[in-house]
Formats: sequence, structure tokens, C-alpha cells
Amino acid sequence: MINENRLLRRLQDLSQIGRNEVTGGINRFSFTSEEQQAIELVTSYMKQAGMTITVDGVGNIIGTYGEESETIMLGSHIDTVPEGGKYDGALGVLAAIEVVQTIYEHQLPLSKNIEVAVFKDEEGTRFGFGLIGSRAIAGLLTHEELQKTDTTDISIEEAMKQFQLSPLPLERIKRNDIQAYLEMHIEQGKVLENEELPVGVVTGIAAPLWLEVTVTGVSEHAGATPMPIRQDALAAASEMILAIERILNDTTDSVATVGKLSVEPNGVNVIPGRVTFTIDIRDIDEQKINTLESSIIEQLQKVAERRNVTMTPKVLQRVKPAKTASMLQQQLASSIEKYGVQPYSLISGAGHDAMNIAAVAPIGMLFVRSKDGISHNPLEYSSDEDIVIATNIFYDTVVELVK
Ligand SMILES: [Zn+2]
Repeated sequence: MINENRLLRRLQDLSQIGRNEVTGGINRFSFTSEEQQAIELVTSYMKQAGMTITVDGVGNIIGTYGEESETIMLGSHIDTVPEGGKYDGALGVLAAIEVVQTIYEHQLPLSKNIEVAVFKDEEGTRFGFGLIGSRAIAGLLTHEELQKTDTTDISIEEAMKQFQLSPLPLERIKRNDIQAYLEMHIEQGKVLENEELPVGVVTGIAAPLWLEVTVTGVSEHAGATPMPIRQDALAAASEMILAIERILNDTTDSVATVGKLSVEPNGVNVIPGRVTFTIDIRDIDEQKINTLESSIIEQLQKVAERRNVTMTPKVLQRVKPAKTASMLQQQLASSIEKYGVQPYSLISGAGHDAMNIAAVAPIGMLFVRSKDGISHNPLEYSSDEDIVIATNIFYDTVVELVK
């Protein structure tokens, strides 16, 4: 069994770094002194767990336990969104260290090394581009992506260099030697709460496709332009957004959201001439995402033609959805049963580092119940009891995999 007091104390101590005393929200972004402080604390825990520590070129912190030829990796992240909670990412890292420390203290024999990875910049707060560390390990990060800049025009590559990191060449960071990757994470949804279960096994991670659609009409006087001859970009965009909702209502698990809209010139007495809106489409099946993308674009095109405006879609981000390995799902389920809990499978609507690692290794994920499904918020909460049982289950699965 894991040392629950140590795990809960560490979770509390880490949550003090970057904490806003007024709101209770945590602001711990990558490439800041708060992150640096958190790294120092977490690496001190890794050392107590008998691990040796290395840092790769993009700043992933890797603790290694064992001197075997094969390796399994556990991991998550310690950066947060603005005003984030104390469990997202941090729990996965600390639970992984706790698992290793328990194995170390019991001197259990190993047939594989266990690595604990703290991935660089999962949340993407500073550069609007996340999952940087896991992309690099999976060989998916490109040199062009390193040139993305923050609001002060500093690029990811420059920020890395300011922190004494050398990201280039990126090929050096890619890993091909991971036998299995496991991540424990809070659910960030209400499924487990509704099922009254402390944990669940993730079957796949839905990945977002982000599109930006620009609708161009003609901006004219709101009083002097008769209704039949208007080319109103906002009226057209509204019809498009409702069409998207209708298309998605006919699917089973897929979801799509229009969350951002900008109107030009945005005046009370001017017909909108240009509207830009975003679409976030998610599913765990890449084929379904592609089909949805084409039927949405086809529908929007029809609305544009009928309303005499133009419509231009642009891809902002395309991330591959990932399925978890059935062998790891089964192992997690059998560990869950040992603890007298009914194994339950669910998908992850949110993205995680695991979905990148899926490009180079079989992945598995264990979800922990979130209160009211709230996350990315100071009210984010998982109970101590759920955390302890989840970490014991996670421990059992890791021991089975390395014995
Ligand atoms: Zn997370």
C-alpha cells in the first residue's frame, strides 16, 4: 500500500506554489519562476523515491528508477491554466512518484525501469500551444512550432534558451524505447460522479480539431439598406452555427462547439461585414472527425451561397485522437477489481499528454472522480479517499507491469 499521508501532504505543499491567496486559484505557468520552484520541489521528491533525474532538451523532467534494459513511463504535468486547481496534472505526477517510492521502500524486484515524466507546458497558457513536452518525446514537435510567440513576441525556442534548455535538434528528444505509458488524472467531467465510482479506465482520448471560419459579406448602413439586398455576415454566421449544432445532434459521442466570435465593424447601426468564429470538434475516432469536418464545411458553404456571402475555413490545430491499449485497460480493470470497485470504462473529452505518447508507446489512463466535474478552476476537487484508492490501484497496475 502507498503512504497516503505523504502523498496528500505533497499534494498540499505543491499547491502552495503559484497560489493566489485571494481566490485560491493556482497560477503556475511554464517558463516562470513558479514553475522552477515547483520543479525543485518535485525533483526533491523524486530523489527521496530513489530516482535519478535528467532533463531533456525541451525541459521535460525525467526521474528514472532501476537499471534494467526495458522501461515503462508514468507521467503528467505540473503547469496550470490561469486560476487553475490543485489536482489537474499535479496529482498524476505525485501519484507516480508515490508509486515508485513505495516500490523503492519495499525493494520490490523489477524487470523494467520505471520513469516518471513531468512534461513541459501541457496547458499552453503562455504560447496558446500546449502539450509541448509530450509532443517532443513523441517526435511530433516541429521546428516551426518552436517559433510560435507569446504576447511579447518571445518564441518558444527563445523561452527555452532563457531557461538554459537546448531544444535542437528535436530528433534527439524523441523516445522509441518506452514499453508502456500510464497516466493517472482527474476526470474533469461528471461521468464517474454520476456512476458513483471513485475511478474509471479511459478507453480513448478525444482530440480537438480547431477550425476558424471567416464569413465575408458587405458592411452597409443599417437604415439605408433594404432587407432583401443585404449581405449580412452575422446573420449568415448565426445560421451556420445552428447548422453545426443540428449536424452534431445527429451523432452519438461527437461534440462540436463554437466558442469564439468576432464581428466587424461591430457597430449598432452598421450591417456586419465580416464575422470570424471558431469550431472545436471532438471525437476519439479520427475518421468520424474527418467526416464531420467535411459535412460541416459543406453545410456552411450552402448557407453562404444562399445568403450571398463568402465563407473561408482554416485549420488552426489538428490533434490526433488516441485509443488506449487494451492490455493496459485490462490490467487497470483487474487492479480496480482487487480493490472491490466495479471496473468502468469511459472516454476522455479533454486532451492529455498521453495522447501524444500514443504515437510511440501503448498508453493507459486511470481517471479519478472530480466533484461536480469542475476543473481549470479553484473549486476543482477530488476527495482524499478517492485519491488514495486510485493511487493504490495505480500502484498495483505498475507492480504487475514491472514484475
Ligand atoms: Zn491535465
